[in-house]
Amino acid sequence: MSAVALRLPLKPDRALVRKWVEKLGREKITAVIVSHSHFDHTADAPYFAIEAGAPLIGTESTVNVGRGAGLEESKLIAVKPGQTMTFGDFTVRFIESVHGPAVLGRVPFPGTIDKPLVPPAAARKYRLGGVFALLIAHPTGTILHHGSAGFKPDMYDGISVDVLLQGISGRGDTDQYLENVALKTRAKLVVPIHMDNFFKPIKDGMSFLPMVKFDEFCRKAEQHRSIFTMRTIPFCKEVRILPLNAAIVPGDAVR
Ligand SMILES: [Zn+2]
Repeated sequence: MSAVALRLPLKPDRALVRKWVEKLGREKITAVIVSHSHFDHTADAPYFAIEAGAPLIGTESTVNVGRGAGLEESKLIAVKPGQTMTFGDFTVRFIESVHGPAVLGRVPFPGTIDKPLVPPAAARKYRLGGVFALLIAHPTGTILHHGSAGFKPDMYDGISVDVLLQGISGRGDTDQYLENVALKTRAKLVVPIHMDNFFKPIKDGMSFLPMVKFDEFCRKAEQHRSIFTMRTIPFCKEVRILPLNAAIVPGDAVR
């Protein structure tokens, strides 16, 4: 937290990234896809790509973070809203979205990253770029990764999904957010994400971001329990979320 608050340069921990790539299984990582280029999403992403030998995929701003980290050009893929990419049995559609009103009703660090961003760099250098939601289709089912808590009213017209990974930090009105994302997409399973305190080291375990109002989100989601089920996923553990009739690992108690 202090490095961000004090505007100090953020230094990616490459040894820790390497450890996690090994834990996840290097050969299982086909692509590193980033939804927008704020520091909490991109600062480490190029190093996951380097360790895994995988491409880094996102906006032009995200690609400039990869370039600054030393990723080779052949591993940098800039995508545009509406574009689709295929990875084996997975198809990913990049849907244009907007950022949540995270800090005092404003989007932090707006703008784009127009030249290679060489770390260590201060949080404010990681400008937003664009924002994508990721619609991930597989023969077993469809997963929507809605990572940032803004939305466009028409962005999910005609789209329905099995599983929604819904980023809840920095959201505005929870009822509207559920209405326009979870209910609009007719999600059957809703998994809240992006609520853990990313200002703390991962070794400290799960704790909530300040002001994430997790209980309020649960209470409001619970009102729609006849439409979708809500589950949390355990911190840093592998879970199975499809097919839907297979049991998802119940979430850790998060307090
Ligand atoms: Zn952000």
